[in-house]
Amino acid sequence: MTISTRLTTPLRVDPTALAPEVGFFRYGVVGGKVLLTNEGGEFHFLEQDRFDTFLRGKIDGEERVELERKGFFKTGLDIDRMAGRIRRKKSFLGGGPHLHIVVTTLRCNHACKYCHASRTDMDRVDTDMSLATAREVVEFAFGTPSRVLNFEFQGGEPTANFAALKFVVEHALEKNRYEDRELLFSLVTNLTLMDDEKMNFLVDKGVMVCTSLDGPEDLHNKNRGWIGKGSSYQTVSGWMEKFNQAWIAKGLDPNLFHVDALMTCTRDSLSRGREIVDEYVKRGIKSIHLRPLNPFGFAVNTWKQIGYTMEEFLAFYQDTLDYILELNQQGIFIQERQAAMFLTKMLTPDDPNYTDCRSPAGSGSAQLAYNFDGSIYTCDEGRMVAHMGNDFFKLGHVTGTAWNDIAKHPTVRAIAVASIQEALPACVDCVYKPTCGIQPLHNYMFDGDLFGQRPRSRKCQEFFGEQADLYRRLAEDTDGRVEKIFRRWTIQRSRPGTIPYPTEGSA
Ligand code: SF4
Ligand code: SF4
Repeated sequence: MTISTRLTTPLRVDPTALAPEVGFFRYGVVGGKVLLTNEGGEFHFLEQDRFDTFLRGKIDGEERVELERKGFFKTGLDIDRMAGRIRRKKSFLGGGPHLHIVVTTLRCNHACKYCHASRTDMDRVDTDMSLATAREVVEFAFGTPSRVLNFEFQGGEPTANFAALKFVVEHALEKNRYEDRELLFSLVTNLTLMDDEKMNFLVDKGVMVCTSLDGPEDLHNKNRGWIGKGSSYQTVSGWMEKFNQAWIAKGLDPNLFHVDALMTCTRDSLSRGREIVDEYVKRGIKSIHLRPLNPFGFAVNTWKQIGYTMEEFLAFYQDTLDYILELNQQGIFIQERQAAMFLTKMLTPDDPNYTDCRSPAGSGSAQLAYNFDGSIYTCDEGRMVAHMGNDFFKLGHVTGTAWNDIAKHPTVRAIAVASIQEALPACVDCVYKPTCGIQPLHNYMFDGDLFGQRPRSRKCQEFFGEQADLYRRLAEDTDGRVEKIFRRWTIQRSRPGTIPYPTEGSA
């Protein structure tokens, strides 16, 4: 069975039949039922023959009470409760940028088929961040108003310029003795330049590590070529184990302190979802992010070899999620990270503030990316666009630009306007709008403008298909077993030094 990227069963609504007491809602057909959603983040499944009864305001009994409690009727509507829910869902607004992506170098010893990090060869030391720039990055980040500052190191391969990484960590810790912010560090690394000294520093300073693991050895090595070296997989898995042991030796809970990993799905991955999950389970990883390939960077040239349609990706997603749920039912805990992000929006009063899936988007307002030369971008992808010769997403430089300039920058404002879903064609009527989000940079890449065309947009198709699949599973869940697993995925036990939903690193 494949997942549709759009609703397949149109429902006709006779506007003259709509009773005045029916509240504001969006609707669609999922799993043979009518799904209702609303702005408070509530949802409800109706049998199809009950939808017309609902529209006429004639539903009564327990279901009426439940629909009123959820805000689907104006009668019995608790405005304060609804306002409180919306306020809580949007509580990320006004917090300032919590995610500060620091590109310590563009140098990298890998040549992954899908890289869009603008990597350079290892001899290009001119793409290393200087310590003076690293200092300015820390000063700039502390000049923003966010109570939480998460320095996320990316590249190239960030550990190729470990001196800059080390300086940022030490200078930020020193500054924070007075600033008293919530300070977090995370490193997105391919792990192949690691050594004991670097590991000890990272473990000692509480820097959490996220690497790339694309699956079993042959698949990982095929996607992630290590220039002039042997098996990237063997080195990565060896260091994952060493880090995990180092945290255990410090007396830390291995369920919270372990190397996280990201996988990027290429055409070769499509038929191997179960093997990929087995690889993660074998390594004790509790979370897997099934990430589709973006046709950016190197993937533009390799697309014919490694690319696929969004329908093919969603079939892979659905089949692999079936398997992940089977494992959970056998008592093996592993969550799919994108699903956990959507489920947190669907099943809890919170929004996880995932900067690439919120409305308005977080580029420039919730996250900033600092290139090796001190240039500031809305996000890491904005830096990639600049590398292609287009400075639209460049916001300034760590010397000479103030946070206020960034907050008022026309690009940041345009991104916000282009990602307010209440005002976007297609989103405004979409049943998934309350739990969805927009990344205008993707629209810019595909359609040439920040607004894009939703049904055609690859990101919209992905989010639509994934949410349709999750709601379908809930609609068909007659004994509550799936919902129980899903609710467990929404419990994020934060560990010091991490945020639950890291950005999409390149590793
Ligand atoms: S994806 Fe990461 S590891 Fe691979 S080539 Fe790009 S920067 Fe290097
Ligand atoms: S991007 Fe808009 S139209 Fe697409 S799934 Fe999300 S809410 Fe719906």
